[in-house]
Amino acid sequence: MRLLRGRVVEAMPVLAMALIVLLLGALVWLFERGEQQSQRRQLIEDVLWVEQNLHFHLSSNEEKLLQLAEAAGRDGAAAFLSQARHVLVNNPEIDGIVWRGASGEVVAALPPAVGTGRGEGAEMARSLGKRAYSNVFSKDGRAAFELNAPVFDEAGVVGTVAATMSLDALLTHHVPWWFAVRYQLEVIDGEGAVLAAKSRLRRDERGPSYVVPFDPPGHGLGLLSTLRRGEPPLARYGLAAAILVLALSAIASLWAMRRHIGRRLAAEEALRAEHALRKAMEDSLTVGLRARDMEGRIIYVNAAFCRMVGWTAEELLGSAPPMPYWSPEETGNAMDRNRRLLAGEAPADCIEVRFRRRDGERFDALVYEAPLIDAQGRQSGWMGSVIDVTERKRADELARQQQERLQQTARLVTMGEMATTLAHELNQPLSAIASYGTGCLNILKGAAEIPREELAEGIERLNAQAQRAGEIIRRVHEFVRKRETVPAPCALAAVIEDTAAFLAFDARKRGYRIVAEVEPDLPLVTADRIMIQQVLLNLARNGADAMATTPSERRELAIGVRRTGGLVEVAVADRGCGLAPDAAERLFTPFFTTKEEGMGMGLNICRSIVEHHEGRLWYEPREGGGSRFLFSLPLARDTAEVVAA
Ligand code: ADP
Repeated sequence: MRLLRGRVVEAMPVLAMALIVLLLGALVWLFERGEQQSQRRQLIEDVLWVEQNLHFHLSSNEEKLLQLAEAAGRDGAAAFLSQARHVLVNNPEIDGIVWRGASGEVVAALPPAVGTGRGEGAEMARSLGKRAYSNVFSKDGRAAFELNAPVFDEAGVVGTVAATMSLDALLTHHVPWWFAVRYQLEVIDGEGAVLAAKSRLRRDERGPSYVVPFDPPGHGLGLLSTLRRGEPPLARYGLAAAILVLALSAIASLWAMRRHIGRRLAAEEALRAEHALRKAMEDSLTVGLRARDMEGRIIYVNAAFCRMVGWTAEELLGSAPPMPYWSPEETGNAMDRNRRLLAGEAPADCIEVRFRRRDGERFDALVYEAPLIDAQGRQSGWMGSVIDVTERKRADELARQQQERLQQTARLVTMGEMATTLAHELNQPLSAIASYGTGCLNILKGAAEIPREELAEGIERLNAQAQRAGEIIRRVHEFVRKRETVPAPCALAAVIEDTAAFLAFDARKRGYRIVAEVEPDLPLVTADRIMIQQVLLNLARNGADAMATTPSERRELAIGVRRTGGLVEVAVADRGCGLAPDAAERLFTPFFTTKEEGMGMGLNICRSIVEHHEGRLWYEPREGGGSRFLFSLPLARDTAEVVAA
């Protein structure tokens, strides 16, 4: 419906113009027709007037002829001739006058040689006793007719007097010049043949015509009057043509305009759709956007930003620093940042700031500022993207705490076992120290002469054992000490060596061999040494557990480290019972264990630690029986750069 109305509105001007053209056409046509009608009316009036005029002359000629006939009957031939001459002189259309006797013989004629007609007019005048016209006949090649008047004496009609008149002469002498200028006048007979004419028109000059009966003089004669068509009124036609051309060009331009408007409307529609899409995208953004002009006043904020800070767009637009969403305690810093930004020193990276919401709650946000460039390529302000990172930070913190707790738990688990292990480890050097001490004392007490060398050797051995114990304690201390994870470049070969040393006692006790396969010239990795050691110990202990039922000659725990691309890969392989496929799938699930005293947390913790180091931990069956646990760690940054170079 709206579409239809739109179309009608669009078509309206064109329709109006078309109507104007139509009306103009109608006007011109009406004007033409009116003119034609008035011309025709004028023509009819004029031709009737001419016909009357001619009849008037004929009537006056009749009158004169009757007087002549009367004079002839009364006064005789001499009088007739003298009067006839007078009539001839005054009426140029009369060619001649004849007096005929009762049987048609010529009594007198003027001019004497005047030709006679066929005499039917004379007979009629005689028989009727009143004037009568003859039919039109040809005389010297010209159409002529006779007007007869009876001549009476006491006895009655004794003859006739006839005047011969040519039609040409009648027209020549009694049609006025102005008529001849405007019209062509012709006398036509019943068949339309032209008998006489006044003025001739070319074919293209012939306008409308009109016929009036011209009877008398002849039967069925008519006066045909044809209007002379003048030069076409150029000005009028020119004007009409100009108006038409103008109207047509107006229609054409309207049409062009309509198309233009159509295109514009389509473009507007497309723009509107685009705008709607952009608006929808903008409103569904979770990143807050705010634009500021070069003076720092807010010129735009999106919905996400308003949601973030709690002020509406209307309230924020136009506000200048200090902004309502700045935390009062940070205002100084914020002002400073703002000043530097406006001076063109926008930080290249995002900065973390603390904003406040309308209800006073503080939140951390990452802000990235970029110059706002307008369509002309000029900077018109600054565009800032604001991301609320409070939740993320909270989640990160939670994850970190969990991780820490996990590590602590894992450490405690390991520590318990470690304490047992170390008790054994320390037992040996301590008892050695005790026996060396006793030995030395005995030497000192027993001998009169002190064997210095023997004593020195004993004390040296004692010392060595004490150092060994100290070393063990140092390791334990380092291992157990609760500290933040400190990733640092570290050599895995050394870590493996340490681990192997730790495991030496356990290996002896349970009867398995430890084979370390360390690739030479290994690059450093970035890792927390203690934690990686913990992973290794855990994996090694699992491997040892799995080999409980393995024949003793096959009990071999291989700890290997090698480099693959940008990573260092560590593998702990045993010859144990291996893993069933479903167990392999659930390996890393917390509390999955097949051991009576197992906790099922070990592998899970190991994986967390490796992933914490941006590495990966996985399992694969070992060729020839047993399991292989592998983990990879990225190279230390410096090393990676050296390698890349
Ligand atoms: P726990 O050792 O306390 O059971 P772990 O997470 O370290 O917890 O191990 C989970 C389970 O994975 C073990 O109970 C064992 O069934 C299996 N497993 C781990 N390492 C090996 C291995 N090297 N060979 C065979 N099975 C293993």
